[in-house]
Amino acid sequence: MQGQPMIILGEDSQRMKDKDAQSHNISAARAVAESVRSTLGPKGMDKMLVSSIGDVTVTNDGVTILTEMDIDNPTAEMIVEVAETQEDEAGDGTTTAVAIAGELLKNAEDLLDQDIHPTSVIKGFNLASEQAREEVGEVATEVDPEDEEVLKNVAETSMTGKGAELNKEVLADLVVRAIQQITVETDDGGHVTDLEYLNIQTESGGSVSDSELLEGGIVDKEAVHGDMPDDVADANILLLDTAIEVDETETDAQLNLDSPDQLQEFIEKEEQQLKEMVETIADAGADVVFCQKGIDDMAQHYLAKEGLLAVRRVRKSDIEFLSELLETRIVSDIDSLTADDVASGSVRRENEQFYVAGEDGHGATLVLRGSTDHVVDELERGVNDALDVVASTVADGRVLAGGGAVEVEIAGRLRDFADSVEGREQLAVEAFADSLELVPRVLAENAGLDSIDTLVDLRAAHEDGDEHAGLNVHTGDVVDTFEAGVVEPAHAKQQAVSSAAEAANLVLKIDDIIAAGDLSTSGGEEEGAGGPGGGMGGGMGGGMGGGMGGMM
Ligand code: ADP
Ligand code: MG
Repeated sequence: MQGQPMIILGEDSQRMKDKDAQSHNISAARAVAESVRSTLGPKGMDKMLVSSIGDVTVTNDGVTILTEMDIDNPTAEMIVEVAETQEDEAGDGTTTAVAIAGELLKNAEDLLDQDIHPTSVIKGFNLASEQAREEVGEVATEVDPEDEEVLKNVAETSMTGKGAELNKEVLADLVVRAIQQITVETDDGGHVTDLEYLNIQTESGGSVSDSELLEGGIVDKEAVHGDMPDDVADANILLLDTAIEVDETETDAQLNLDSPDQLQEFIEKEEQQLKEMVETIADAGADVVFCQKGIDDMAQHYLAKEGLLAVRRVRKSDIEFLSELLETRIVSDIDSLTADDVASGSVRRENEQFYVAGEDGHGATLVLRGSTDHVVDELERGVNDALDVVASTVADGRVLAGGGAVEVEIAGRLRDFADSVEGREQLAVEAFADSLELVPRVLAENAGLDSIDTLVDLRAAHEDGDEHAGLNVHTGDVVDTFEAGVVEPAHAKQQAVSSAAEAANLVLKIDDIIAAGDLSTSGGEEEGAGGPGGGMGGGMGGGMGGGMGGMM
């Protein structure tokens, strides 16, 4: 170790070791975590994000805030990844996960200051995280996938504090019905929800309460010909992403005609080709065609003559959804068409739209309405979270009491568990327990309540054996939050706790920062800082990128 120093770094590079490196990283990670804390819970505030090109997003959604923020610091990015993992795995609980990660790091720093080695802290955090997962399993309540009331509570809880909240009852009902529509029971009695079978359409200029759930898919177009049927009950449906037209370039090249006869011959040839295309379609058994591209006038005429319903210029996303719904492929080449490419279903026309359903009635379209684009966007984010959360609840079948109840309960159990842990790891397990209690403290803080009083009251209730004692953010009282309908999925909470622990440990493991550029300047402030070649460059200064400037 103590041999000749070997110089392997370039002149401009900078290095930070041990405590300096740790506290540098911890500050950066905490800065990110703290930036979303104020949005936690039903009384959380929103953030307005202004992108570099001036687009405005108003949201309360942790992962949206963190991903839209232009963060230019590698450690801070680790925290953003916590939010992204949480969003992917659970669909909700992103703010919770990030806030816990920040608090773990804050408490870890205190331990490091007491000269406890990072390895002990990491070990203790791992033990505590594992134990917390188990304890969450212990305190969770089983929920029947048909239990609409609990599922609606789960949906409403996940929408609280978001733009969707004002209409949460209407939306929770839609969300639960939508999930039931796309959930199937497996052979072993489990439940699988395939969100691919749900199509979400948004429309601004209406009222949220006019949002609705429709069976199947919607195609907001007209038939290409007046003589076509509008309703086809036993439909054989074909999906095309190619035009029913004769290739334009081919005709241009051949349009070198000397006599009227040749012109006539040419037109006939083109008509013949279109006729053959239509015959191929009809021979495959199709009586309804949804085409993403155009349909030639002459082809429209032949299709109508054959008695088919054809719709052109259908949106790509609609064709793709229909492909899921009908379990059929999208045909790109009419010549290759066979009877297997035609799917059974039904088509009916109402309110100037076609409603398409598959054979088994599987699949649904959720139409979200709201006054403006901003309203609808935030509504969609809230509803998307609720859909994920209800789907994972149906799959996992376990729920918890929210409003800080589960965190205080688990913290208490972890403190008991800490007694069985030897050495300095014990302190880390206790620090982990304290970190979980950040959730009720911040819920209280954001509701303008005294966070210490709240925590004291909650702990007392849990010591009395009330596992569901949580915070009523409106009154400040300790209540049975499960009874009050504040219900969260167990799976998401387990995920939040373990990804927070993993992120904190990742940051704690680093004891050496080697940067290609200057460590002391803040990224973001300078144009091009942390740019190419500077993966660990300018951005290391603890500053978060310029994108933050737009945040209020
Ligand atoms: P996250 O991104 O972590 O989901 P939220 O802003 O959605 O953050 O807040 C979630 C927290 O708010 C959870 O701890 C949940 O139990 C709590 N919560 C939600 N609704 C209520 C309510 N009506 N009363 C008290 N707490 C609530
Ligand atoms: Mg939430």
